[in-house]
Amino acid sequence: MRSRAVPLAIVAFALVATLLWSVGDAWSSRTLPVAEPIVVTQAYLERADTLRRNEAPALLFARHNIRGPDLLALTNAAEGINWRRIQTGQVFQFRSALDETVPNRVTMRLGDERVLTLYRDSAFAWRGESEEILWSVEVRRLEGIIESSLYEALEEYLPDSILPPEQRPLLLWDLADGVFGWVVDFTRDNYPGDRFTVLYERLTSPLGDVRYGRVVAARVETRGEENRAYVLTDENGRNAYYDADGRSLKRAFKMYPVAFKYISSGFSRSRFHPILKTRRPHLGVDYAASRGTPVVATGDGFVTRADVWGGYGKVVVIRHPKDIETRYAHLDAFETGIRAGVRVVQGQRIGFAGMTGLASAPHVHYEFIKNGAHTDPRQAARFGQGEPVPDERRAEFEIARTYYDRLFDYRPGPPLAASSD
Ligand SMILES: [Zn+2]
Repeated sequence: MRSRAVPLAIVAFALVATLLWSVGDAWSSRTLPVAEPIVVTQAYLERADTLRRNEAPALLFARHNIRGPDLLALTNAAEGINWRRIQTGQVFQFRSALDETVPNRVTMRLGDERVLTLYRDSAFAWRGESEEILWSVEVRRLEGIIESSLYEALEEYLPDSILPPEQRPLLLWDLADGVFGWVVDFTRDNYPGDRFTVLYERLTSPLGDVRYGRVVAARVETRGEENRAYVLTDENGRNAYYDADGRSLKRAFKMYPVAFKYISSGFSRSRFHPILKTRRPHLGVDYAASRGTPVVATGDGFVTRADVWGGYGKVVVIRHPKDIETRYAHLDAFETGIRAGVRVVQGQRIGFAGMTGLASAPHVHYEFIKNGAHTDPRQAARFGQGEPVPDERRAEFEIARTYYDRLFDYRPGPPLAASSD
């Protein structure tokens, strides 16, 4: 080996020398252009401004020297914008050339999906371009241990830098309702020390916005037992969640009729009534929720009542298959079109939380009646088995499950460069 290596090295050296020589020759035979030193300057000034309370957009534009004919041309260029309906807090970004007082570009968001950019081509001449915001999606993992509740755990493990505070409840409610809302009762199934891992999508826009997308997979322990969920988008683009065996987590009844704050009173055959000051059964569950929070049907069925009924106040009663009835009481108002005889589907909005009838604070009093007998809705809801993944999508589901299972426990290894020997 050694005896052959030497001549090879000599050959290699000779080749390199030849190359260098010929390149050097090419350089010396021409006059090379000399690059001017590059001076980097900031050509534009970028500023952001926010529409203040009770402020007319014209005032905001005036702060940035857009007035008179320029303002008129700008508003004309912003087709389809109703300037009277621009809300407090709307952010505008202004870009101006350093030697100009009037900005040459104004950018504003139009909801989650679009951005409007207004360009000033010359004095008093503006044109607008509406573009779709290209959100980029990343899957993030969130894991932790539940000390008291899932809500508090999410507050603890999700810093504002990852998800803005107003987006966190969306993730929480998605987990509690959209993913596990048929099989896990997060208000009482969790024990301190239970672990959870959530894989969710986080979206970022080129404008620097961050928002929550959806849960793609999750595993949550309840009293030490593991529940897994994997997303499979259905043919209508809706997210459906399946367990590890590929059975839908969806059941005939949802656990909760409202996005509640806490349970103010559980199901009991005998409890002290806060208003009547006597012991009497409480044959439902009270979900404390702000006045006006939408209330949904927990299962498919027919509305048999939507009216005022004694202590219930405004109540909706729904008749379901298998001799099941559900009641939603103390509503502030009914959803338009909800009346006796109408068919409703699970998750459909039927009214809004309130405190009509015998109630001391806004909440939804929810009852579940099976074969004529009141039962604890949080127990009764969990019967039956979910539908399996459709046969033709079984292979797709299994690939996704394997992938997400790997992500649950993924730990990045050392970079290849560091492990070369
Ligand atoms: Zn009640």
